Amino acid sequence: MTALTLERLRREGQAFTEEISREGYLAHAGHKPTAELQPIYDRHAAVLGRDALELTLDLFRSAPESSEERRSAGYLLEWQIESQAARAVVELDEREVAWESSAVIDVAGARCIPYQRAAIEIANAKHRSERLAIDEARALAAAAEHGPLRLERIQREKAYIEELELADGYIPTFETLTGFSLRDLGSQCSAFIADTRAMWDDTLPFFLRRNLRITPGEATRADALALFRGKEFDGAFPASDLEPSIRRHASELAIDPFAGGRITFDLAEREGKDARAFCAPVRVPEEVYLVLRPHGGVTDYTTLLHELGHALHFGYADAHYPFEYRWLGDNSVTEGYAMLFDHLMQDRGWLLRYTGLGKTDVGEFLRMAAFEELHFLRRYCAKLLYELEVYSGKTSWDVLPDVYVETLSGATGFRYRSADAFIDLDPRFYSSRYLRAWQLQSILAKSLVTRFDEDWFRNPAAGPWMVENLFAEGQRETAPELALRASGEALSFDPLVRAIERGLAG
Ligand SMILES: [Zn+2]
Repeated sequence: MTALTLERLRREGQAFTEEISREGYLAHAGHKPTAELQPIYDRHAAVLGRDALELTLDLFRSAPESSEERRSAGYLLEWQIESQAARAVVELDEREVAWESSAVIDVAGARCIPYQRAAIEIANAKHRSERLAIDEARALAAAAEHGPLRLERIQREKAYIEELELADGYIPTFETLTGFSLRDLGSQCSAFIADTRAMWDDTLPFFLRRNLRITPGEATRADALALFRGKEFDGAFPASDLEPSIRRHASELAIDPFAGGRITFDLAEREGKDARAFCAPVRVPEEVYLVLRPHGGVTDYTTLLHELGHALHFGYADAHYPFEYRWLGDNSVTEGYAMLFDHLMQDRGWLLRYTGLGKTDVGEFLRMAAFEELHFLRRYCAKLLYELEVYSGKTSWDVLPDVYVETLSGATGFRYRSADAFIDLDPRFYSSRYLRAWQLQSILAKSLVTRFDEDWFRNPAAGPWMVENLFAEGQRETAPELALRASGEALSFDPLVRAIERGLAG
């Protein structure tokens, strides 16, 4: 076997990542019944073993601080550790996918529904009693089978990372690898929850009473699903207008949404296709899939815009960059572009131009959107605080479900269930990438407004500028570096709070 070098690691690492991504795309888009990941891991064992880890560790430790070599080695090392940790739990992941796709829940002896459809059925239930009954049945299955599977995965992955002894514990390891402080972000989250408490307490009772006819004391997470289903505005967002609207938006922005054929929109109805949309960068930038199973309504628009942001980011990345700058790095950046686009659903001018909303209903839509944004942000802040508790090792596993219920219910005002404590948890602190992406999108939007005016989204000078100055950079920069370059500002929740205040005012 030839010795492992940086060049070989990049070449085979890219081949491995492409195969994993292609398998995921084929399975989740319904082209294949299941994703067979194990054979791919086996085939690429050479870049997923001790040698590869040692090589990236050496590169990381020997590169001078804040040099380009250090940046590149940091991304490669993080990827190595994530891939190897994922390999250690791949069998559990396969079991989870198999369980989820076959599990059926019995709703009060009256009817059976697939476990995976529970959230959709809860959101669409006609009566509250039915919504709560489905959630009760779902929680029983979650507590008996899904939760324990996930707990085992979390414990195994945590042990694997800690045994590497890169730093003193799981959280410091993550911080060393990514160069950002989770604990600082946690403090910002606590402050955000406290600072927006009065605004939340003023707003929540109104929407609960008006939309669901309940009081804050009764509200559960199942009610939240129904409340944010947003059915009342679906008429202004017909499925038939979805793709034409987004294409018109892209063409006015002077961006080819298909990137000359590199990006494929997979919007067709297909048996076995996930209900959840996703973007699969199978080869970056040459082959990117945007996958959505449209149902009609507000959610389709938000999701298509989100995935379009990812697709443009990957589809326009500079092909000359090494593997780690096109594929790896700080995912707050790609999520930031996705959120930059999905936040157009909170822009009055964009909504009036590209959707069926008119001047009479756009104000009410914006108020509801701001309320939802505040809920979502408070939920994610609470999630990160809870996840920090999970990985701190200071709280025992059997107490964590209570901490989960208390933290999430406290921040959102909706009562959470302990059965979800290990299911509603993003592996490897992905919630922190979302939170930083949220902060990043508000800075990017502001810089686009400064450069191209309020209606930057239809300015034909803006698109080419974004391609050249933003997307082409791939993920070489971190989110704070990009924020600084785009606007000279640091990431923070402040602009988000101000945007929500404006939105709630209508
Ligand atoms: Zn995303």
